[in-house]
Formats: sequence, C-alpha cells, structure tokens
Amino acid sequence: SSGEAAAAAAAAAPHAVFLPFPAQGHVTPMLRLAKLLHARGSFRITFVNTEFNHARLVRSRGPGAVRGVDGFRFETIPDALPQSDRDGTQDVPQLCASTRLTCGPPLKELISRHSAAGDPVTCVVADGAMGFAVYPAEEMGIPVLIFFTPSAGGVLGYMNYAELVRRGYVPLKDKSYLTNGYLDTPLDWIRGMKNIRLRDIPSFIQTTDPDDIMLNINIMQSEDDAPRAFGIILNTFDALEHDALAAIRSRLPNLYVIGPISLLSHSIPPTAPSSSIGSNLWKEDNNCIKWLYTQVAGSVVYVNFGSIAVMTRDQLAEFAWGLAATKSPFLWVVRPDLVGGDKAVLPEGFVKETEGRGLLAEWCNQKAVLAHPAVGGFLSHCGWNSTLESIHQGVPMICWPFFAEQPTNCRYLCTEWGMGMEIGSDATRGEVERMVRELMGGEKGREMREKAREWKLKAREATEPSGSSFVDLERLVEDLASFSK
Ligand code: UDP
Repeated sequence: SSGEAAAAAAAAAPHAVFLPFPAQGHVTPMLRLAKLLHARGSFRITFVNTEFNHARLVRSRGPGAVRGVDGFRFETIPDALPQSDRDGTQDVPQLCASTRLTCGPPLKELISRHSAAGDPVTCVVADGAMGFAVYPAEEMGIPVLIFFTPSAGGVLGYMNYAELVRRGYVPLKDKSYLTNGYLDTPLDWIRGMKNIRLRDIPSFIQTTDPDDIMLNINIMQSEDDAPRAFGIILNTFDALEHDALAAIRSRLPNLYVIGPISLLSHSIPPTAPSSSIGSNLWKEDNNCIKWLYTQVAGSVVYVNFGSIAVMTRDQLAEFAWGLAATKSPFLWVVRPDLVGGDKAVLPEGFVKETEGRGLLAEWCNQKAVLAHPAVGGFLSHCGWNSTLESIHQGVPMICWPFFAEQPTNCRYLCTEWGMGMEIGSDATRGEVERMVRELMGGEKGREMREKAREWKLKAREATEPSGSSFVDLERLVEDLASFSK
C-alpha cells in the first residue's frame, strides 16, 4: 500500500542523532552541521541538548527556539550535575566527568525509543568530548562519527597527551614548574606541529596530579574513543592546518575536514525551514549592530572572551583602562559571569571616561559583529570558533589565551598564520594600550590585517565548489546517507 511505501521510504531516510558537548563553543558548530545536513532535504535530525541547556535556549531565544521544524527535532538528556553547580560559569571538568559517567544509558534509551517508533537512528554524530557515545552505539550496531570541535592543532595536542605522560613531561613535578620556565621547553618531536612549546599544548597538561580528570579524560577520548568511530569531523581547512591534519590522519585515517562551517552554512538558503533555529545560550543584544553602523569603517576594536573564560577583577580593570587610553572606539562584551564569583563590574569612572566611543553589551551575535565593516580588530581569548569566525571575516586579532586549546590557537595565529599578536594574562594597562594601538594603527597591525585578508580568501576557496572543505562535506553526506541503505 502507499502507506507502507511511505513508511519504507521514511525508514530508508538517514536519521542522524547529534550529541554536542553542553557548552556554547560545541553546540554552535554541531548545530551548523546539523542544519547543513537537514537543508539537503533527505536527512532527519534529532539534536540532543542537556536539559539545562535546553532551558537556557528557551530563556535566551524563546520557546520557538527548541520547537524544531519538520524533520529536525530537539530532545534532551540530563547532564546529572547537581543544581548547586549551575550558578555562574559552567565547570568544564565536572561537566566532562558527569556526562561521561551518566549520558550513555539515556542515549541508548533515546535510540531504542526511535527504533520502536519506526524511526530508526542510522548514525550518531557525537562531539569529541562526548566520545563515550561510541560504546552504546557500537552495542546497538549504529555507526558513530566524532566531531572534534577544536582546531586540528588542538586535537593533535590532545592526541599527544599519552605520549607526553610516557615521556615524563607531565604531570608536572610540582607547582613551581608552572612559572619556572619549564613550560617553555620546546617539543620538536611532535609530528605536524612546528615551533611548539609545552605551554602551547592544550592546557590540561598543566597539572601536578596524575589522576587529574581532564588529563585522563582527554587521553581516553583520543586513545580509546576516537579510533572506534567510523570517522572524524574537523572544523578547519586544509590550507590552514595541513601539517597537523596529516599527522592526525596517520592515526585516524577517515577525516572529514569541513571548515569553516560558518562559511559552508552560507549555502543554506534563508528560506530553509531550519533557518530560524539558533544556538545562542545567552540573549543577544541587538544594539551592537545598530551601534556599529554609526562607526567609521575599520575603526572599532571588538573585545570578547567567549562563553567560559573568567578573569579577575584586576585583569578586567587593566583591560578597561588600557582600552580607555587608546581613545579607539570599542565594542566590549562583558558576560555577567566574566569575573569569577562576582558580577563583572567595570572600574569606577570607566563608563564616563569612555562615553560616546565605547559600547558595552552582555552578549552579541558575534558572527554578525565580525562581519561588520566597522570592526577593525578583535581582542579575543582565541577559542576555536572565535578564531575561525575572525579568519572567515579577515579580522586580525590580539590574543589573550586562557585555557584548553586556546594557547595552541594563539601560537598558530601569532607564529604561523601571522594574523595575531599575543598579550600576556598579567598584561598591564600600558601593554593593553600599546597592543591595541599597534593593531589599529601600527605597521605590525597593517601586516596582520593583510595576512588576515589572505586567510579569508583561502577559507572562501576551501568552501567553494571543488574546494577541499566543500568536497569533504559532500563525502560526509554521502557516507552518512549510505548507512541507511
Ligand atoms: N559568541 C557569540 N556572542 C558572544 C560571545 C560568543 O555569539 O557574545 C559565540 C561565538 O561566535 C562562538 C562561540 O560563541 O561561536 C564561542 O566559542 P569559542 O570556541 O570561540 O569559545 P568558548 O566560548 O568555547 O571559549
């Protein structure tokens, strides 16, 4: 009957379950990929957020944000964190440990439920930080693709954790090794990484504890989980990270290198049903874009430290006064929880001092801000999404790396890609001022802007038809679709 035929066709259609790690920098690229697959018309998507983030999406974007559209739905699993951990910034190690420990069974339950309802799951796309998904999916005979959301350099750093332990570099002997110059030790034996020092490796190795959660979870993810996956998805492009990609490929052969995803997602037509689906967990302040239209092209310094970085009140004050001294117009996004354990408070007199040339906001649509012609430079913590979004728009950066693979990204930005300048975490207002002046008006700033433009063009090439990322996305779509046949 035609009913049976329709049911058979539905059963044959690919159905991908997306399992992002519950943090902004993971949810966003995963959602961009899910929307790309959905826009192809044939893929059905089940996008799984934690209950906590689901509620945050509703708060920031209204109930429509999680309603889903035809063939694209949202579901939730618990993250099992105690309510007391919910205030302020998310605790990444806790979240990694608790999702790993508790999310397997609900994932299995979710997959079984869809099978029972005649809507079988044909593949799972799991975040690298949710790599434990390979085990329940394997038991159920469902292929898993792992999407590592950091840079290839960052991923390669994590893939070398076990070797760094074997060679005795880590854990550190004692805390003095954090400051005695030891972290400047060059690591010339890591294939695929040039000019790398111990301090440029993702920061979770900077521990004295052999049982440190993040050290060990990252070893498990790269040594045990990733090799079991059908393939690995990376949000970067070949021209940018060729050597690191080659080194990763020698251990994990089936790579899909599809970045910048923010650029590929331009191919989704604005009329696509999924175009209303967004991922921001904070409410966007629309004044930012309006204000940028009142500013001269290339004149504005954009300052944003992403969704997790936390600074001290003193660091915030040095940034504030340094910025004020430059006399440049600036857009500064100060998350309410930017200063640990405190409501981020700007130093007294700062707002008055910068009146008329500074705009403060709590959260913005960063992709739109970086795309605005008024923005001339980006002072950033070098999260990978922020870095790629800056490359996408050709905006040079001042790098204030904070943790995880941000130091790795900073190293590449400053020494390999030529579009970044590093500023120390204990930067004084004088240094902040000098760097911002150099970025906006100096010779080095001009060179960095030139380099950023070149990378922007290369990113565009990679995502155009026959470009490396475009071709890999096509292959990914084909391979994922083949699982449903
Ligand atoms: N973001 C945003 N508005 C903000 C701050 C951040 O839209 O005010 C987005 C940004 O565009 C990026 C993500 O949040 O896609 C942050 O990810 P990233 O990897 O840069 O840093 P993380 O937050 O993970 O440290």
